[in-house]
Amino acid sequence: MKIDVFERGFSPTPIQELTGVCPKNRVFLKREDFLPFSFGGNKVRKARHFYREIQTQSADVVMTYGSSSSNHCRIIANMAAAMGLPCHIISPEENYKDTPNSRMVERFGAVVEKVPLSGISQAIEARRAAYQKSGKNPYFIQGGGHGDPGTAAYVECYEEIRRWEQEREISFDYIFHVSGTGTTQAGLVCGLLACGRQAHTRIVGLSNARTLERGRPVVVQSALSWLEHVYALQMGRRILEDTVEQAVCFEDAWRLGGYGCYNSAVLGTVDEMMKRYGIPMDTTYVGKGFWAMTEYVKREGLTGKKILFLHTGGTPLFFEERPGEENAE
Ligand SMILES: *Cc1c(COP(=O)(O)O)cnc(C)c1O
Repeated sequence: MKIDVFERGFSPTPIQELTGVCPKNRVFLKREDFLPFSFGGNKVRKARHFYREIQTQSADVVMTYGSSSSNHCRIIANMAAAMGLPCHIISPEENYKDTPNSRMVERFGAVVEKVPLSGISQAIEARRAAYQKSGKNPYFIQGGGHGDPGTAAYVECYEEIRRWEQEREISFDYIFHVSGTGTTQAGLVCGLLACGRQAHTRIVGLSNARTLERGRPVVVQSALSWLEHVYALQMGRRILEDTVEQAVCFEDAWRLGGYGCYNSAVLGTVDEMMKRYGIPMDTTYVGKGFWAMTEYVKREGLTGKKILFLHTGGTPLFFEERPGEENAE
């Protein structure tokens, strides 16, 4: 019997209120880290949608790209193993480290091909062509689960949030989350616009890596792509580009020099969240983003707001080495 890897046992992820964070406001946390597959996280929600595409297209090899710390690669390698399909991961050889995620990827039996950063796209194309030439039907997933299926996953997540709000007669003024490849943010924004809720809720993507100039256009493009390829076809309606532009709030004030950089305030947040609430957060994504949210609330002088923060996962990163005390000013 063929096992359905994702469909069974998925219910909306819990939302809990955290007292004592951002005084004068109410802060809630949506636990995407509890998604029930491979230690959870937003890459699981995205992977479910890629999983459907892989089956529809009868692919027989799963290919993707990511670093040795990648949560996405862990989940795709796990999914491919569960499907009984080979998995081929292209990884940058620079800074390739032995990490909890890279160890799991290897244990799932994925082939990890390490290539110099400058040659990544050629390597992906060459490998894909080689599989096709040998009679295989590879399915390639962009790094981080970028693309329309990943966006669709976070449209669904927004709908989950909306139902929770309706059941409790609560309306969030803000939804904060870490924005990396921008797919999570694009999906949430599309969901918000599809529900016509943009006047009620502000979605703020807190960049952990990209600058505003680089990151924001990617979010807008991803949203427009889903709206054109999926929403317009299904609903027979269009949402204007201007409306999308206005709904995308991408903040790079707390990226701290980029991917993987953190400071003592981020470390303090990570330790405090674990000690006080028993909630694991990592320094690359969620801990850094949670700290950034508290800084945003201070900067904007927010009071009396209902705030939702999306815990996007990354639990294995909690167990990564933290060399030195901090690596950004
Ligand atoms: C990938 C990732 C993100 C960023 O999500 P994007 O959709 O790439 O913007 C945030 N948090 C964690 C834990 C992640 O693994």
